[in-house]
Amino acid sequence: MIVSEIFYSLQGEGFLTGVPSVFIRLAGCPLRCKWCDTKYALDAKAGRDFSVEEIIKTIKKWPSRFVVITGGEPMVNLELGGLTAQLKKIGKHITIETAGIKFIANLDCDLMSISPKLGNAKMADGVSALNVAVLNELTANYKYQLKFVIDFEDDLAEIKQLLDKIKNIDLDLVMLMPQAATRDELLEKSEMVAELCRQSGFVFCQRLQILLWDGRRNI
Ligand code: SF4
Repeated sequence: MIVSEIFYSLQGEGFLTGVPSVFIRLAGCPLRCKWCDTKYALDAKAGRDFSVEEIIKTIKKWPSRFVVITGGEPMVNLELGGLTAQLKKIGKHITIETAGIKFIANLDCDLMSISPKLGNAKMADGVSALNVAVLNELTANYKYQLKFVIDFEDDLAEIKQLLDKIKNIDLDLVMLMPQAATRDELLEKSEMVAELCRQSGFVFCQRLQILLWDGRRNI
């Protein structure tokens, strides 16, 4: 599989924020979000070919039990199941970070971290990044969290409309995070997002990687 990068850092977002984790970034994503912070990994060939064995050997040099498979969009990778099976075999806690655009059954996955892309991601005309059927399958079959990027106050209404369409959603697992590429932008938008969390009851999602390292990579 084509791997963009493997590195060791702290999980920056979601309910596992702050947990030291090994990140495996797979190359390739069919979406093109305006504010994507991993554009270098969007092309399916943007990396080096690794075997599953090579990935396992690489991650063993770090002490963490927590592994995050990210992208790009890992759920479009046909070899994902082979990788998660091997990770589970060596006792890893596995998070898969996805935009929620594709469902794969029976993956070894401890946390499906789903970040559906709203209108603020500004895809090209006619391209929708939302697939309600896939979101229903993911939330019904995996332990999950739902993280939404907030750029404007109005985004909350779009989130509520979407959540109304997903069956049996656990609203305690919904998180809102500020759209930001830099520490200044994060701090600037955090108060607005915090207020939306107070209004809605959704959880404020920190973006620790931006707060600590201000957009620098792999620290
Ligand atoms: S889904 Fe994620 S990786 Fe793909 S373009 Fe959007 S932000 Fe970037």
